[in-house]
Amino acid sequence: MTPEPAQPTEELPRVRGRRRVWIDGVLAVAAIVVIGALTMGPLVSGRDETRQARTISVALQHVTDLRIAFVNWQAFLDPQVGKLGPSAIIVDPAAVAAGTEIVKTIVTETALATRGLRDSGLPADARAVEAASKAFVKSLNGISTLTAGQPAGVIATTLAAERAALLEARTVATTATTNLQVLNERNETHTIRSLDTGRTTVLVAYLLAAASSLAAAAVLGQRVHRRERATRIVSERQRYEAALQQALDMAKTESDAYEIMSRGLHESVPRLEVEMLVADSSGAHFHQTLHTAAADVGLRAGCGVVSPDDCPAARRGHTLLFPSSQALDACPHLVGRPTGDLSAACVAISITGRSSGVVHAMGPDGQPPEPEDLSYLEVTTRRAAERIAMLRAFERSETQARTDPLTGLWNRRSFENGVHQLRLDGTPYTLAYGDLDHFKTVNDTHGHEAGDQALRLFARVMRDSVRPGDITARYGGEEFVIVFPDCPIETARKVLERLRERLALTVSNGRVPAFTVSFGLSSSTDGDAVDEVVALADQALLAAKANGRDRTVVAGEIGLWSGTLGVVPEAHSTIL
Ligand code: GH3
Ligand code: MG
Ligand code: MG
Repeated sequence: MTPEPAQPTEELPRVRGRRRVWIDGVLAVAAIVVIGALTMGPLVSGRDETRQARTISVALQHVTDLRIAFVNWQAFLDPQVGKLGPSAIIVDPAAVAAGTEIVKTIVTETALATRGLRDSGLPADARAVEAASKAFVKSLNGISTLTAGQPAGVIATTLAAERAALLEARTVATTATTNLQVLNERNETHTIRSLDTGRTTVLVAYLLAAASSLAAAAVLGQRVHRRERATRIVSERQRYEAALQQALDMAKTESDAYEIMSRGLHESVPRLEVEMLVADSSGAHFHQTLHTAAADVGLRAGCGVVSPDDCPAARRGHTLLFPSSQALDACPHLVGRPTGDLSAACVAISITGRSSGVVHAMGPDGQPPEPEDLSYLEVTTRRAAERIAMLRAFERSETQARTDPLTGLWNRRSFENGVHQLRLDGTPYTLAYGDLDHFKTVNDTHGHEAGDQALRLFARVMRDSVRPGDITARYGGEEFVIVFPDCPIETARKVLERLRERLALTVSNGRVPAFTVSFGLSSSTDGDAVDEVVALADQALLAAKANGRDRTVVAGEIGLWSGTLGVVPEAHSTIL
């Protein structure tokens, strides 16, 4: 596995938009169609079977009515047989009317029963009932042709034929009834089964619909939850970024910026141990600027990398993620740490476009920083780097405004500010005013460039000869001032003597033209304003010049010489 640039969570996890909605829609429609088909099948067949049951029941009614009509005929004929008249069987007109009515009923019910049987799917029974019924009606004609005086044998035969036709018709009707009942029972069973299936299917459909609704609600809920979480993460990061920026805007120095970074990292990635390595001014060496401990682990040893060239992340200029120090492609600086194996994320720092360091975040082995952590690391690093770049630029321009470009010493203005501050603080000081001797000649003899070189050399000697708290400034041309805070005049004089000796030694190597310097010394106790103290030192300097140069004269002691600026060649430090 090659360490790839880590992907920070800069964006909201996207909800897969329109395409996903389309797919969900198509699936929902398909589910509805399937559920519909499953539900409708049994219900439709149940409805058909119910309709069939109605047809059977109508047929059954007519066949039953037909059978009753046959029975009625039997009940009607039997009493009539004993009362046979001379020319016909039935002589009573009321009986004839009743018999005719029964026969009509038989004919009507035969037609209805026949149709009902056909509609119920029993055409054979329909045909049989029709035929038997017709045969019976036909047999009645035999009875109606019986005449008086006919032999008893003929009458008996005719009646027997009629009885046989009636019996046949009743038997056929009974069979049809039985068949209809069987059909009805079967149909009922089917109907019940269909309705049961339908009910079960509807129940299943309801359950499925309820389950799909629950699933849809769960999916939707999860999506909303994910989106809310993403929004919360982004707004938390924005809040953090705004607070970090505000804090960094208040940082006046680089150390302030590092301190703010430490606090920011402690708040945003508490589970990670973080150190920051920044290149020094040479750009060749790292130094550690911060090191925060993980919440649950103490401080481990930092990264052993010593220079930007040696750090893969700094060299490549982007974030690298190392899930395990045991991995083949782990950064060599992670391998073999005394505190054990670990994971790390290394965020390159770029200050004003130059790769200038690395933020090194350490976690347990095999558990590299999460994308969210990376995002916090990167944003903290980037914001801090921007502020550091700004502070450095500001510092540079401040230094430029404060210093003399040729010598790097303070300029006259910062000298005056420095002394003013000493006065405000009530700090007494001694002031030395120096002027290089016969410098015009140096320029004239060796050229202006050599003169500049001599000025730079003198500045260095001056700086090297005083304490860190002393102020060294170029007052103008080849004139310099030194301010010795809290320093007795005698001590200052000794410092100046050493300075002149050091200068003499330095110029003796011949690389620059030899020159000397004269100083006038005054004390802050001699005057109220800075100008006054400077003027006093200047007077003493003039005395030094007048007395042969390459010497120091103390202002407060000029009066001892009753105003005569005579030459004192043997003593280079002179009291006038
Ligand atoms: P004295 O001992 O009386 O001071 O003699 P001097 O020649 O040093 O006289 P003065 O102080 O008046 O001369 C100042 C000379 O310093 C004039 C100028 O050529 C030289 N000088 C001033 N500023 C610069 C500078 O920035 N570079 C160079 N090369 N020379 C400078
Ligand atoms: Mg001068
Ligand atoms: Mg001079």
